[in-house]
Amino acid sequence: MRITSMNELPATEPLKPSILRQSPEALRAQCGLWGEKSFRVTQLCQWLFERRHYHLETMSNLPASFKTKLREHFDWQLPSIASRLDSADGASKILVHGKKNQFIELVILRYAERVSLCVSSQVGCKLACTFCQTGKLGFFRNLLAEEIVGQFILANDVVASEGRAISHIVFMGMGEPLDNVHEVIPALKLFTAPDCFGLSHRRVTLSTSGIVDKIMPLAQEVRVALAVSLHAPNDELRSSLMPINRRFPLADLKRELLLFQKHSGDLVTIEYILLKGINCSERQAKELVHFLHGLRAKINLIPFNAHPGSEFQRPDEDEIRSFQSYLAKRGYPAPVRYSKGADVSGACGQLAAKQQAMLQDLPQRKNIIRGSQAQ
Ligand code: SF4
Repeated sequence: MRITSMNELPATEPLKPSILRQSPEALRAQCGLWGEKSFRVTQLCQWLFERRHYHLETMSNLPASFKTKLREHFDWQLPSIASRLDSADGASKILVHGKKNQFIELVILRYAERVSLCVSSQVGCKLACTFCQTGKLGFFRNLLAEEIVGQFILANDVVASEGRAISHIVFMGMGEPLDNVHEVIPALKLFTAPDCFGLSHRRVTLSTSGIVDKIMPLAQEVRVALAVSLHAPNDELRSSLMPINRRFPLADLKRELLLFQKHSGDLVTIEYILLKGINCSERQAKELVHFLHGLRAKINLIPFNAHPGSEFQRPDEDEIRSFQSYLAKRGYPAPVRYSKGADVSGACGQLAAKQQAMLQDLPQRKNIIRGSQAQ
């Protein structure tokens, strides 16, 4: 029988719950059932959430009997690095082995004052934005919360050896996070809850292409910063670049962003990739100002990172500056953000997309072949 979707693959998930998705509350409940003293749970939580340390063997103050229970009850498997590329500008692009032997891409971005982690929420993506490498790959599956948290733990291990820690998380890797809210929200809660990893909600950013009907349900569950990949200021152009706009046009998106803002009181970040001759004329700058009216937003302009085979080009500096200056004169300062890591593999998603595409040519990697047939 021909296998046509990942759902038909034999179950390979461990039967044990992953330690990576456990909250202090859940650990307390489980340890209570074992009759463990509460200070033992406190010690365990210090290892996991304060030290971000998930290696059970080296938790030196936990007794062997407690470790045995933890080992038998929870799955302690951590993601491992499949490949790593270090950029001259301080970015590291890392592919990790995910469950079901698929690759997950994460990117570490080092700045003087902070270290950001760009995480993936899916393997591939359904939304098929025309300028995106991940979109061209198609959709494989949603990541589990533990695979999202696992990216954070692995990245922390990488930068800990440099005496640093991940200070910011952005959901801008592979996939649309609001297309996987059931797993993304538990991960966001672990990242931001004061008794878990405790990152400020301003330091955790979810970036969406505009799944309008999931924005308020997200806001009602967890407080995080919201970024929207806009990339076009009118419906005709946006629908041609981002098919999701046919389902959720700009008027609906604007209405929901205003609701989000009223609910959270926070600024919304508008991400706008600049595509030469496509979306950065003066007329389009004017349309963008019209869209932004009434919204408290900061805008990031991102010149397109051209790659071999790409149908789009980066605008020249004059075009970028004149688009930026039009916005600034109308009260919308819009810094230009150049992608870090362009020398090692371009924008988020490119590295994994290349790797997955390459593996699709290898018949012995049956899991990948099966996944590609599902597209
Ligand atoms: S830009 Fe984001 S939403 Fe669009 S196809 Fe790529 S990963 Fe998916």
